[in-house]
Amino acid sequence: MTLGHVIIKTNRDKPIRQRHPWIFSGAIERIDPSVADGDIADVVTPQGEFLARGYVNRQSQIVVRLLTWNAAEAIDAEFWARRLSRSINLRTDSTARRLINAESDGLPGLVVDQYGEWLVIQVLTLGIEQAKSQIADQLNELLKPRGIYERSDVKVRQKEGLERHTSLLSGVEPPDRIEIEQDGHRFLVDVRRGHKTGFYLDQRDNRRKIKAYCQDADVLNLFSYTGGFAVAALSAGAKSVTNVDSSADVLALAKENVRLNGFSVNDQDFVEADVFSELRKLRAMKRTFDVIIADPPKLAQSQSQIDRAARAYKDLNLVSMQLLKPGGYLITFSCSGSISTDLFQKIVFGAAIDAQRDMQIVERLSQSSDHPILLSFPESEYLKGLVCRAI
Ligand code: SAH
Repeated sequence: MTLGHVIIKTNRDKPIRQRHPWIFSGAIERIDPSVADGDIADVVTPQGEFLARGYVNRQSQIVVRLLTWNAAEAIDAEFWARRLSRSINLRTDSTARRLINAESDGLPGLVVDQYGEWLVIQVLTLGIEQAKSQIADQLNELLKPRGIYERSDVKVRQKEGLERHTSLLSGVEPPDRIEIEQDGHRFLVDVRRGHKTGFYLDQRDNRRKIKAYCQDADVLNLFSYTGGFAVAALSAGAKSVTNVDSSADVLALAKENVRLNGFSVNDQDFVEADVFSELRKLRAMKRTFDVIIADPPKLAQSQSQIDRAARAYKDLNLVSMQLLKPGGYLITFSCSGSISTDLFQKIVFGAAIDAQRDMQIVERLSQSSDHPILLSFPESEYLKGLVCRAI
């Protein structure tokens, strides 16, 4: 079967040849009318030279997402099976892990996470929506999960002309809470209502790394969610961990997770509050900490929000620095893709100047290794962190 063509403008082929998986509308000369949105098409030069193959959606600014640069590779059930098994085989064994990290794994628009015997899938694009049942069949074949739950309740689907959607895709409904194990810690995950697919799997490696700073420490865990960092800090021998989050529901689960790992729960260590005002309150009370972990939600959703987000990151880091004991550590993150590693460091620098604290960077952090960054797709790097010591 010959596929319809997407014809690229003259001299707009370079990023495609360099294996960047996105083609924006501005680079496209014309699309064959036979190509419907969601279809697979061949991307060609004005001279008709094959460049790559991918799926099309004219409703999105990213009109084509590329799946292969090999003209002989058809996009059929075997293709999905090959790509899925390649990614799965690259993951280390664990009961909770990201199996498919979209573009970075050669599968734009698709996220698959594993929580014990269940898989949770996120379908971000029309092209993947069309291939969804084929993909589910292959996942069932490869991994034999008890069920696949779909959490396609993400805003970006609007940009593809898709509604948000959550439901069981195949197999058996997951329980209200799935118990997972990571690095010897146990966590309860609510895959229906939890953030993302239920748990911040992207912080796994960092939870391991922050242990080095937490022995005998009084820790302030800002934006605690369900206590991932709290459990890591306690297991590293922290003296106390004060968790702050604006959601009562996630704090309730954080308490359960702390208890599940054999630590006692003091209600006053779980503070339901806005972090920005709680920090000011703690400053007024002259409270200080050995370690402060700040893992806010994505404060910049897009390029246009960078300035506002930068001010919020600065404020958060500034007041946090003021609460650090001498020799204390600020472990600070940004998961905003539109804030670069460089810019983030500059913001933290600005915060240190205004807080009048001399700070050293002692470690740089990134997303977990099951959320790999594709070299030809720098956009896949989104999570960055700095471990800063106050001297
Ligand atoms: N560190 C966590 C993930 C943090 S997600 C982990 O490792 O699992 C961000 C969290 O910030 C969410 O739980 C959300 O409820 C909370 N949040 C968002 N805005 C907030 C605010 N202004 N004050 C307090 N918590 C907030």
